[in-house]
Amino acid sequence: MSEGSFQARAQLLLALRKGGVTDPRVLSVMEQTPRDAFVDPHFATSAWDDAALPIACGQTISQPFVVGAMTAALELTGSEKVLEIGTGSGYQTAILSKLARRVFTIERYRSMMKTAQARFEALGLNNIVAQCSDGGLGWPRQAPFDRIILTCAAPSQPDALLSQLGPGGILVAPVGAGAVQELLRYRLRPDGVFEEEPLMDVRFVPLLPGTG
Ligand code: SAH
Repeated sequence: MSEGSFQARAQLLLALRKGGVTDPRVLSVMEQTPRDAFVDPHFATSAWDDAALPIACGQTISQPFVVGAMTAALELTGSEKVLEIGTGSGYQTAILSKLARRVFTIERYRSMMKTAQARFEALGLNNIVAQCSDGGLGWPRQAPFDRIILTCAAPSQPDALLSQLGPGGILVAPVGAGAVQELLRYRLRPDGVFEEEPLMDVRFVPLLPGTG
Protein backbone atom coordinates (compact mmCIF):
# COMPACT_ATOMS: atom_id res chain seq x y z
CA MET A 1 0.00 0.00 0.00
CA SER A 2 1.51 3.37 -0.96
CA GLU A 3 1.62 6.40 1.35
CA GLY A 4 -0.92 8.17 -0.83
CA SER A 5 -3.38 5.34 -0.72
CA PHE A 6 -2.98 5.07 3.07
CA GLN A 7 -4.10 8.69 3.39
CA ALA A 8 -6.82 8.24 0.79
CA ARG A 9 -8.18 5.21 2.65
CA ALA A 10 -8.21 7.08 5.96
CA GLN A 11 -10.08 9.94 4.32
CA LEU A 12 -12.65 7.60 2.83
CA LEU A 13 -13.24 5.95 6.21
CA LEU A 14 -13.82 9.36 7.72
CA ALA A 15 -16.39 10.17 5.00
CA LEU A 16 -18.15 6.84 5.59
CA ARG A 17 -18.36 7.42 9.34
CA LYS A 18 -19.59 10.98 8.83
CA GLY A 19 -22.32 9.67 6.56
CA GLY A 20 -23.48 7.28 9.27
CA VAL A 21 -21.79 4.01 8.31
CA THR A 22 -20.54 2.90 11.74
CA ASP A 23 -20.53 -0.93 11.56
CA PRO A 24 -16.87 -1.76 12.33
CA ARG A 25 -16.88 -4.91 10.18
CA VAL A 26 -18.17 -3.00 7.15
CA LEU A 27 -15.64 -0.19 7.70
CA SER A 28 -12.75 -2.59 8.07
CA VAL A 29 -13.65 -4.53 4.91
CA MET A 30 -14.02 -1.31 2.94
CA GLU A 31 -10.65 -0.14 4.16
CA GLN A 32 -9.07 -3.40 3.02
CA THR A 33 -10.77 -3.72 -0.38
CA PRO A 34 -8.68 -2.00 -3.07
CA ARG A 35 -11.29 0.02 -5.01
CA ASP A 36 -8.56 0.96 -7.51
CA ALA A 37 -8.59 -2.68 -8.67
CA PHE A 38 -12.22 -2.23 -9.78
CA VAL A 39 -11.94 0.94 -11.87
CA ASP A 40 -10.28 1.76 -15.17
CA PRO A 41 -6.56 2.59 -14.58
CA HIS A 42 -7.47 6.04 -15.93
CA PHE A 43 -9.50 6.68 -12.74
CA ALA A 44 -7.07 4.99 -10.33
CA THR A 45 -6.13 8.29 -8.66
CA SER A 46 -9.81 8.99 -7.85
CA ALA A 47 -10.54 5.40 -6.79
CA TRP A 48 -10.55 6.20 -3.08
CA ASP A 49 -12.69 9.33 -3.41
CA ASP A 50 -16.19 9.05 -1.99
CA ALA A 51 -17.67 9.42 -5.46
CA ALA A 52 -19.36 7.27 -8.09
CA LEU A 53 -17.12 6.65 -11.14
CA PRO A 54 -17.83 5.52 -14.70
CA ILE A 55 -17.08 1.87 -15.57
CA ALA A 56 -17.59 -0.14 -18.79
CA CYS A 57 -20.82 -0.27 -20.84
CA GLY A 58 -22.00 3.17 -19.65
CA GLN A 59 -22.47 1.90 -16.07
CA THR A 60 -21.17 3.31 -12.78
CA ILE A 61 -19.37 1.96 -9.74
CA SER A 62 -21.42 3.25 -6.80
CA GLN A 63 -20.26 5.90 -4.36
CA PRO A 64 -18.45 4.14 -1.46
CA PHE A 65 -20.79 5.72 1.09
CA VAL A 66 -23.77 4.13 -0.67
CA VAL A 67 -21.95 0.77 -0.88
CA GLY A 68 -21.23 1.01 2.85
CA ALA A 69 -24.78 2.00 3.76
CA MET A 70 -26.32 -0.77 1.64
CA THR A 71 -23.89 -3.36 3.01
CA ALA A 72 -24.62 -2.31 6.60
CA ALA A 73 -28.36 -2.44 5.88
CA LEU A 74 -28.00 -6.15 5.03
CA GLU A 75 -26.95 -6.93 8.63
CA LEU A 76 -24.52 -9.66 7.57
CA THR A 77 -23.06 -11.95 10.23
CA GLY A 78 -20.84 -14.13 8.04
CA SER A 79 -23.09 -17.14 7.54
CA GLU A 80 -25.36 -15.80 4.79
CA LYS A 81 -26.01 -16.91 1.25
CA VAL A 82 -26.34 -13.64 -0.68
CA LEU A 83 -27.71 -12.79 -4.12
CA GLU A 84 -26.54 -9.59 -5.81
CA ILE A 85 -28.15 -8.16 -8.94
CA GLY A 86 -25.82 -5.94 -11.00
CA THR A 87 -22.22 -7.17 -10.62
CA GLY A 88 -20.84 -4.18 -12.55
CA SER A 89 -17.21 -3.66 -11.58
CA GLY A 90 -17.49 -6.32 -8.88
CA TYR A 91 -16.56 -3.91 -6.06
CA GLN A 92 -19.77 -4.37 -4.06
CA THR A 93 -19.54 -8.13 -4.68
CA ALA A 94 -16.01 -8.21 -3.23
CA ILE A 95 -17.17 -6.40 -0.09
CA LEU A 96 -20.09 -8.80 0.34
CA SER A 97 -17.85 -11.84 -0.18
CA LYS A 98 -15.80 -10.90 2.88
CA LEU A 99 -18.85 -10.47 5.11
CA ALA A 100 -20.99 -13.42 3.99
CA ARG A 101 -20.55 -17.16 3.41
CA ARG A 102 -21.30 -17.21 -0.31
CA VAL A 103 -22.26 -14.63 -2.92
CA PHE A 104 -24.18 -15.30 -6.12
CA THR A 105 -24.00 -12.33 -8.45
CA ILE A 106 -25.80 -11.62 -11.73
CA GLU A 107 -24.76 -9.18 -14.47
CA ARG A 108 -26.54 -8.64 -17.79
CA TYR A 109 -23.32 -7.77 -19.69
CA ARG A 110 -21.14 -10.84 -20.23
CA SER A 111 -17.97 -8.75 -20.77
CA MET A 112 -18.45 -7.00 -17.41
CA MET A 113 -19.10 -10.29 -15.66
CA LYS A 114 -15.87 -11.73 -17.13
CA THR A 115 -13.82 -8.69 -16.06
CA ALA A 116 -15.27 -8.86 -12.55
CA GLN A 117 -14.55 -12.61 -12.34
CA ALA A 118 -10.89 -11.98 -13.24
CA ARG A 119 -10.71 -9.42 -10.43
CA PHE A 120 -12.22 -11.86 -7.90
CA GLU A 121 -9.64 -14.45 -8.92
CA ALA A 122 -6.76 -11.99 -8.70
CA LEU A 123 -7.85 -11.01 -5.18
CA GLY A 124 -8.33 -14.64 -4.11
CA LEU A 125 -12.07 -14.20 -3.49
CA ASN A 126 -13.29 -17.74 -4.03
CA ASN A 127 -16.77 -17.72 -2.48
CA ILE A 128 -18.35 -15.81 -5.41
CA VAL A 129 -20.34 -17.38 -8.25
CA ALA A 130 -21.15 -15.07 -11.18
CA GLN A 131 -23.70 -15.56 -13.93
CA CYS A 132 -24.73 -13.57 -17.00
CA SER A 133 -28.53 -13.39 -17.10
CA ASP A 134 -31.49 -11.12 -16.40
CA GLY A 135 -31.18 -10.45 -12.68
CA GLY A 136 -34.78 -9.32 -12.49
CA LEU A 137 -35.66 -13.01 -12.58
CA GLY A 138 -33.27 -13.84 -9.74
CA TRP A 139 -31.52 -17.21 -9.50
CA PRO A 140 -34.39 -19.65 -8.81
CA ARG A 141 -32.16 -22.76 -8.77
CA GLN A 142 -30.11 -21.34 -5.89
CA ALA A 143 -33.04 -19.87 -3.93
CA PRO A 144 -33.81 -19.27 -1.13
CA PHE A 145 -31.31 -16.58 -0.21
CA ASP A 146 -30.69 -15.04 3.23
CA ARG A 147 -29.97 -11.67 1.68
CA ILE A 148 -30.62 -10.04 -1.71
CA ILE A 149 -29.14 -6.74 -2.87
CA LEU A 150 -29.91 -4.82 -6.07
CA THR A 151 -27.29 -2.38 -7.30
CA CYS A 152 -29.54 -1.26 -10.14
CA ALA A 153 -32.93 0.38 -9.65
CA ALA A 154 -36.08 -1.76 -9.78
CA PRO A 155 -38.92 0.26 -11.37
CA SER A 156 -41.37 -1.10 -8.79
CA GLN A 157 -41.45 -3.60 -5.92
CA PRO A 158 -39.20 -6.50 -7.06
CA ASP A 159 -41.69 -9.32 -6.42
CA ALA A 160 -39.81 -12.06 -8.30
CA LEU A 161 -36.75 -11.41 -6.14
CA LEU A 162 -38.71 -11.06 -2.90
CA SER A 163 -40.13 -14.53 -3.57
CA GLN A 164 -36.55 -15.92 -3.50
CA LEU A 165 -35.91 -14.67 0.03
CA GLY A 166 -35.83 -17.19 2.90
CA PRO A 167 -37.47 -16.71 6.33
CA GLY A 168 -35.93 -13.79 8.25
CA GLY A 169 -34.32 -12.67 5.00
CA ILE A 170 -33.51 -9.10 4.01
CA LEU A 171 -33.65 -7.50 0.55
CA VAL A 172 -32.14 -4.06 -0.04
CA ALA A 173 -32.93 -2.28 -3.29
CA PRO A 174 -33.28 1.12 -4.93
CA VAL A 175 -36.92 1.25 -6.04
CA GLY A 176 -38.38 3.78 -8.46
CA ALA A 177 -38.56 4.61 -12.15
CA GLY A 178 -37.09 8.13 -11.98
CA ALA A 179 -33.53 9.49 -11.76
CA VAL A 180 -33.75 9.48 -7.97
CA GLN A 181 -35.00 6.35 -6.26
CA GLU A 182 -35.83 5.35 -2.71
CA LEU A 183 -33.51 2.81 -1.11
CA LEU A 184 -35.81 0.30 0.55
CA ARG A 185 -35.17 -2.54 2.98
CA TYR A 186 -37.64 -5.43 2.95
CA ARG A 187 -37.61 -7.92 5.79
CA LEU A 188 -39.47 -11.24 5.58
CA ARG A 189 -41.12 -11.77 8.95
CA PRO A 190 -41.72 -15.30 10.32
CA ASP A 191 -45.45 -14.88 9.57
CA GLY A 192 -44.61 -14.46 5.87
CA VAL A 193 -45.35 -10.73 5.77
CA PHE A 194 -42.82 -8.29 4.26
CA GLU A 195 -41.88 -5.30 6.37
CA GLU A 196 -40.81 -2.34 4.24
CA GLU A 197 -38.49 0.40 5.49
CA PRO A 198 -37.27 3.46 3.54
CA LEU A 199 -33.56 4.16 4.12
CA MET A 200 -32.53 7.09 1.89
CA ASP A 201 -32.70 8.65 -1.57
CA VAL A 202 -30.22 7.21 -4.10
CA ARG A 203 -29.36 7.45 -7.80
CA PHE A 204 -28.79 4.15 -9.56
CA VAL A 205 -28.78 3.02 -13.18
CA PRO A 206 -32.01 1.17 -14.01
CA LEU A 207 -32.48 -2.58 -13.89
CA LEU A 208 -32.98 -3.40 -17.57
CA PRO A 209 -34.75 -6.48 -18.91
CA GLY A 210 -32.84 -9.24 -20.72
CA THR A 211 -29.07 -9.43 -21.25
CA GLY A 212 -26.82 -6.83 -22.86
N1 SAH B 1 -22.40 -2.98 -7.78
C1 SAH B 1 -21.78 -2.43 -8.96
C2 SAH B 1 -22.64 -1.34 -9.53
C3 SAH B 1 -22.84 -1.53 -10.99
S1 SAH B 1 -24.01 -0.50 -11.77
C4 SAH B 1 -20.37 -1.98 -8.66
O1 SAH B 1 -19.97 -2.00 -7.49
O2 SAH B 1 -19.65 -1.65 -9.59
C5 SAH B 1 -25.38 -1.59 -11.97
C6 SAH B 1 -25.16 -2.82 -12.81
O3 SAH B 1 -26.41 -3.47 -12.95
C7 SAH B 1 -24.68 -2.53 -14.24
O4 SAH B 1 -23.47 -3.21 -14.48
C8 SAH B 1 -25.80 -3.08 -15.12
O5 SAH B 1 -25.35 -3.67 -16.33
C9 SAH B 1 -26.43 -4.11 -14.19
N2 SAH B 1 -27.80 -4.49 -14.54
C10 SAH B 1 -28.83 -3.71 -14.96
N3 SAH B 1 -29.93 -4.45 -15.17
C11 SAH B 1 -29.59 -5.74 -14.88
C12 SAH B 1 -30.29 -6.98 -14.92
N4 SAH B 1 -31.58 -7.07 -15.30
N5 SAH B 1 -29.64 -8.10 -14.56
C13 SAH B 1 -28.34 -8.04 -14.16
N6 SAH B 1 -27.63 -6.91 -14.11
C14 SAH B 1 -28.24 -5.76 -14.47
